[in-house]
Amino acid sequence: MFEYLLNDEQKQLQTQAREFVKSIPRQMILDMDQDRIQFPKEFLQEAGRLNLMGCRYPKKWGGRGMDWVSTCMVMEEIGVLGYIFACTFGVGAELVCDAIILHGSDTQKEKYVKPLLKGELFAAECLTEPRGGSDFFGTTTTAEDKGDHFLLNGQKRFIVGGEGADYFLVYAKTDPEADPKNGISCFIVDRDKGVKTEYLYGLMGCRGGGAARMVFKDVVVPRENLLGGLNQGVKVFNTMMIPERLGTAAMTIGAAVPAVDVATGYTSKRKAFGRPVAAFQGVSFQVAEAVTLLDAARAMIYTTARAVDAKIPDKQVRRLVSESKKFVTESCQKAAHNAMQVMGGIGYTDIYPVERIFRDLRLASIWTGTNEVMSMIIANEWYKEYWKDKNNPRIRDMEMDAAAAHEADEKIYE
Ligand SMILES: Cc1cc2nc3c(=O)[nH]c(=O)nc-3n(C[C@H](O)[C@H](O)[C@H](O)COP(=O)(O)OP(=O)(O)OC[C@H]3O[C@@H](n4cnc5c(N)ncnc54)[C@H](O)[C@@H]3O)c2cc1C
Repeated sequence: MFEYLLNDEQKQLQTQAREFVKSIPRQMILDMDQDRIQFPKEFLQEAGRLNLMGCRYPKKWGGRGMDWVSTCMVMEEIGVLGYIFACTFGVGAELVCDAIILHGSDTQKEKYVKPLLKGELFAAECLTEPRGGSDFFGTTTTAEDKGDHFLLNGQKRFIVGGEGADYFLVYAKTDPEADPKNGISCFIVDRDKGVKTEYLYGLMGCRGGGAARMVFKDVVVPRENLLGGLNQGVKVFNTMMIPERLGTAAMTIGAAVPAVDVATGYTSKRKAFGRPVAAFQGVSFQVAEAVTLLDAARAMIYTTARAVDAKIPDKQVRRLVSESKKFVTESCQKAAHNAMQVMGGIGYTDIYPVERIFRDLRLASIWTGTNEVMSMIIANEWYKEYWKDKNNPRIRDMEMDAAAAHEADEKIYE
């Protein structure tokens, strides 16, 4: 983090987050990676006790009344423990609670946000289905309106906290005949209403987060657990894309930092041909590239966080957030790749944590919307912005800055 960007309150929070990160026993990290811990409840309980979660929400609901810059800073610090720590920290407090804070009633905030931020309840977000995750609008989970309640039927896949969460944010079709944009609703679903954790996935990395397939069979959801109104699920979904993608990106930086840190120490000490390997440009330039990528990723994250805090138009936010998710996750994966490369064979073993970090980070460009989906959004928004600005007389027509720019007969498009 560029500390000079932080105010005193943020610096204090950063110190607290760092102390918390230092206090987590290494055995917990190892146990999660070995699937000996299915869901890190104690970690979340302690984060809640320290009031580290959801710092941008109003104090009234358990936050600290801070902003997105502060949130990104905390997510980055938590990521240092390992990507899955930040996943479980983020999914409940930064995603699910974000939706309830923005779209929920006071009763819902009291019942679901406050205890979660205190570390007393755990939550998961159920969006992806076995039939697909990229196509949100293709959801086949249904919620039938029965007056005072809905009957929920369907399945969701790869749900972090599927094992461990007390309640779930679930998207389901409530008007199968309507255009999906107007026919999906969002619900808060309590586990004890009959939600079943059907299958726990064996993962390449990011283990210990309880990633599961969830089954909802005739689950009764009281009407008061509808979030954001009937058939208004897309509105909830659209706002959630900010915490999903900006938060994910911020924590990816933290998760990559230890790999570069370890590689820097190792290459300073490890000798080949009678010299420390860092003395070879082939090595030190890879470390330099990794450090540059992490700093560029940070610059992008904190600029985007400021843009969100400044409430710039939604469409620009969509593009910036998607760019951040794509650029930051790919940069961090490359940084971890370089870190392993400069360590030679030992980097590929469990003597150092680089191999775990490398495995964990592979998820970053897949979940919360794949990076192909990010490119799709960036392209869509960019072309729209381009054509909107094209006819603005205050903007220079750059196309005309060529010697033969007026040769209209040469400008053939079809
Ligand atoms: C460990 C883990 C944890 C997860 N946690 C959660 C969670 O807590 N909650 C949750 O809801 N989901 C979660 N996910 C799901 C994740 O968000 C989805 O896997 C992801 O969005 C992709 O969906 P999919 O797997 O169905 O792939 P698909 O949608 O089937 O996509 C397959 C491939 O096609 C590409 N593709 C699809 N459509 C397009 C397009 N229009 N243009 C270009 N390419 C396209 C994709 O990029 C991808 O490469 C998790 C996944 C994993 C692996």
